[in-house]
Amino acid sequence: MDKSMIVTGASRGIGRAIALKAAQKGYQVCVNYQSNKAAAEAVVKEIDAAGGKAIAVQADMTVEADILKMFAAVDEKLAPLGALVNNAGIVDVAAKVEEMSLERLNRMFTTNITGPFICAREAVRRMSIAHGGSGGGIVNISSIAARLGSPNEYVDYAASKGAIDVMTMGLAKEVAADGIRVNAVRPGVIYTDIHASGGEPDRVDRVKSGVPMQRGGQAQEIADATLWLLSDEASYITGSLLDASGGR
Ligand code: NAP
Repeated sequence: MDKSMIVTGASRGIGRAIALKAAQKGYQVCVNYQSNKAAAEAVVKEIDAAGGKAIAVQADMTVEADILKMFAAVDEKLAPLGALVNNAGIVDVAAKVEEMSLERLNRMFTTNITGPFICAREAVRRMSIAHGGSGGGIVNISSIAARLGSPNEYVDYAASKGAIDVMTMGLAKEVAADGIRVNAVRPGVIYTDIHASGGEPDRVDRVKSGVPMQRGGQAQEIADATLWLLSDEASYITGSLLDASGGR
């Protein structure tokens, strides 16, 4: 395949699994990270070792200039862009809305909403048939928090994912005739480092009894859903929100 894919936040967790699977499917992969260079380079090394092509690119999703530099690096070093996965995202420590600072809210919304919007804009400018591209796919990694609301933990995070769901539906309609499909995967609780960054490393095991399938999910299961949505097998699917949450 002579196409590249940008996976934001691909140094660890779900993004890493998506980047590795994308390379297996033949994409040239941009492994984006914020600060964990060694982890991103290890993902690139793993792709190289398996005969694929990848580059690690630092870009903070809260900084537009970083995002523009990331897309420029892909333009220069990889095949034409065929897919974007807006995966990078953050949570914060559990708090009630009444306790949330402006700084926390700005960080949450800039990282989880504004960054993905700018990435989507840049991807559309490159992939849209209307702009001389040859079409492509965008998958936004949302969360089932968007329909649960995450009370007493992080309503701000849940609201950011609700915004991404609406962006998915609206953008999908906007670019459907331009050869771009836009969908979201909404994971439930998945074993990654994100829970430690929210102050509770064992969160998945605490809440898994509330999952109908009685277990947390693996990053690989989210990667499988994402790559399926980007594949020709999902060719008539756009604007969909695919829950991958063990039935929750
Ligand atoms: P994770 O293990 O914490 O990894 C986060 C990744 O995002 C890392 O690669 C990190 O880069 C990157 N990142 C964080 N802030 C960034 C920024 N400002 N700019 C660029 N990259 C940034 O997270 P995860 O659990 O894999 O989550 C991935 C996505 O799935 C998120 O959108 C999350 O909301 C969603 N999700 C996760 C779960 C779950 O249970 N894990 C459930 C539902 C939805 P560095 O390594 O450089 O820090």
